[in-house]
Amino acid sequence: MSLKPSTEVLYHESTSTGLAQPSVPPIYQTATFTQSNAVGFDEYDYSRSGNPTRTVLEKQLARIEGASHGFAFSSGMAAISNTLRLVGNGESVLATTDLYGGTSRFLEKILRPQGNDVQYADSSQLESFSCQIKAQRPRLVFLETPSNPLIKISDIAGIADACKSVGAILAVDNTMMSPCLQRPLEHGASIVIHSATKFLSVHADVTAGSVCTNDDALAEKIKFFQNAEGTALAPFDSWLLLRGMKTIFLRVKESQANAEKIAAHLLSLGLPTFYPLLDTNHGARIHGRQASGGGSVMSFRAGSFQKAVAFAEATKVFRISVSFGSISSTLSVPVRMSHASIPDHLKESRPLPDDLVRLSVGIEHNDDLLQDLQQALKVMYGHGNLEPNQSSWAGPENVESSL
Ligand SMILES: *Cc1c(COP(=O)(O)O)cnc(C)c1O
Repeated sequence: MSLKPSTEVLYHESTSTGLAQPSVPPIYQTATFTQSNAVGFDEYDYSRSGNPTRTVLEKQLARIEGASHGFAFSSGMAAISNTLRLVGNGESVLATTDLYGGTSRFLEKILRPQGNDVQYADSSQLESFSCQIKAQRPRLVFLETPSNPLIKISDIAGIADACKSVGAILAVDNTMMSPCLQRPLEHGASIVIHSATKFLSVHADVTAGSVCTNDDALAEKIKFFQNAEGTALAPFDSWLLLRGMKTIFLRVKESQANAEKIAAHLLSLGLPTFYPLLDTNHGARIHGRQASGGGSVMSFRAGSFQKAVAFAEATKVFRISVSFGSISSTLSVPVRMSHASIPDHLKESRPLPDDLVRLSVGIEHNDDLLQDLQQALKVMYGHGNLEPNQSSWAGPENVESSL
């Protein structure tokens, strides 16, 4: 009998030790495992290479993502750096432009100085992005959809086709959606990555990352890098993640219901709002095809940097935080926070509106969230002379026209 993912996350493989049948996977808080003989290794020997608590988690991550292999890392960046190890010396990478700051930093400060060719293009433009793939013939294409914080949508299946035609690996960072709403492997991606610090961990109490794939050869390499570099997730953190994941479907559904109302409210006030399924988002149709909902992260333009800061500092239920995907609502001003790690020379070609506020909506009562927004908007409107639609930011045309 095949079970739905929301049922599957409640159960786990047996971790029976012969002593007992634990109904929750125990934490194997041990670095080493005593071996039965001196000439070979048993299934577990050393926790960097393998740990039973992590194995339960890795199987769970694979199941929820529709993959045959899953790997758990000490952070999202560890998951990304291990994936980028698949790019050999001198090989090239093509990444989308609206990229997580830490990923940009890794590509620019680590991969490029090693002699790798690193290129960027706007993956929300399928035709030109596919042409770039065919001309550049990169070893790996790196995608985020929806992108963060501008919520641009890329067509995973279309890009996967272009990647296949040149034998490129397609890695999709699926952090913004969680596996509950979008499963990129089903649309042809070779690898799906998560910062499990966000939706998967739920309670914002652990930093973790995951990599899942259906490709046996890629899985073997990732497993090798995970062990060789020592980037795997610790037993206690694996347990925390397993615990959080049990209710991920409920939480994602609830926070999305809150987010839909908030996005509609911001839009009704005439504030330029970025959310995957709004009619104003050019990619809404594509998103509707490859994901089952808009999720709970959105951004809007306050009108000026001062207004954005005034709004952020006036909220009481929404707390200022760099991260997103927690059960409690958070907000940030990306230009000074999560995207501050974008290397300076890239900032010019990738202008981010400095009046952008990103909201990550949690599971609080919707009335409390709306009330909080309304009182903070009042404070915001009182700041500076600019009205929301008159920002001085002159960004790329495709961003402006998606308002
Ligand atoms: C947070 C984040 C990362 C990095 O993950 P860490 O767990 O902080 O290392 C990578 N990609 C995206 C889209 C993120 O939001």
